[in-house]
Amino acid sequence: MLSIVPLGCYGSDLENKKSISMLVSPSIVIDTGSIMSSLDTDQLLAIKHVIITHCHFDHVKNLPIFADFMLSLGNHSFTVYTTENIMTQIMDHIFNDLVWPDFTRLPSRKSPTIKFQPIRFDEPFSIEGTEFLPIEVDHVVESLGFIIRHGGDTIAYSGDTGICSNFVDHINSDPSIKTICWETSFPNRLEKLATASKHLTPAMLAGELEKINRHCEIHTFHLKPNLEDEIIADTKSIKSPMKIIPMKQKRPITVS
Ligand SMILES: [Zn+2]
Ligand SMILES: [Zn+2]
Repeated sequence: MLSIVPLGCYGSDLENKKSISMLVSPSIVIDTGSIMSSLDTDQLLAIKHVIITHCHFDHVKNLPIFADFMLSLGNHSFTVYTTENIMTQIMDHIFNDLVWPDFTRLPSRKSPTIKFQPIRFDEPFSIEGTEFLPIEVDHVVESLGFIIRHGGDTIAYSGDTGICSNFVDHINSDPSIKTICWETSFPNRLEKLATASKHLTPAMLAGELEKINRHCEIHTFHLKPNLEDEIIADTKSIKSPMKIIPMKQKRPITVS
């Protein structure tokens, strides 16, 4: 069984709607938009593997706080999986000893809190029996989507992306994919903004779905929280034989 629990599934924060963090197992999380406000101390200590899709704030927001939390509880180290480029962006702009200390040297260079594990597009890696295939998606900064496999179960996860033939091609070439988490950030009314920021509207998602060569279950996420009702209304008007379900925080997406 493969299960993803969205701790936060929005493209920003508002009231109880939280930025992106997806728990793939108790020890593996994709992005750190909301782990600190979603998990208790024991659950946080269980996280050993953090996958970062890109450097945007709604995805890395809790990473510095999480590093501080792990160090202050006795140097519980963890591994950050991302590309070399994104790693450099995170080091240059967050852990630069100005915005936040360099946790790749704390408490010591030999035994740091954060260990980076560089990953490459199209080269799969495994963590505790779950395989991740990193896919380059089309966003305003370098950004990762994933095909995630556990046993015979598969989920495709778009990350932040605009219209992206690479993501569509990966789905079409793998018949085991029947469940897709696909970002849908803005309502149709704001298509210009979606295009400029390389995100999707429901109408743009509908265009992507027409390119998929089989029926899949689609879980939409990364909705701007203040525009949620409008985005969901637009999503309901999509004419597609596929089942489209807006993601809900803490409600697992399960494939078995
Ligand atoms: Zn985002
Ligand atoms: Zn982004």
